[in-house]
Amino acid sequence: MDELRSVFDPRGGYFKKGGKYMPSLVAELGDAIECHLKLIGLIKDDELDEHQQKLMAEKRAQYEAANQEAEAESDFPAGAQLCGKCSTKAVIKMDGCMTCLNCGDSKCG
Ligand SMILES: [Zn+2]
Repeated sequence: MDELRSVFDPRGGYFKKGGKYMPSLVAELGDAIECHLKLIGLIKDDELDEHQQKLMAEKRAQYEAANQEAEAESDFPAGAQLCGKCSTKAVIKMDGCMTCLNCGDSKCG
């Protein structure tokens, strides 16, 4: 699952509804598979003792911190807006025009 998650889409990923950042469709697929495996009981995450739970929380915090770092290093500025054409948060103001850095779509045509 971690391998799937670490696959980054060359387009730069996208934001799901609710603002959750997905580096790629493949990563989301990994998420979905993991969810499914938990559902059918292949991954058991309810039987962890207190110590393990604490360990998991630390790992999760590390993972999230690493993710935020990756996001900050993306090609697109943090304040970029969502592009209506390619659904990537890569629209910035360039020379007075709202321009998408991902697909090149420009409001000034
Ligand atoms: Zn675009």
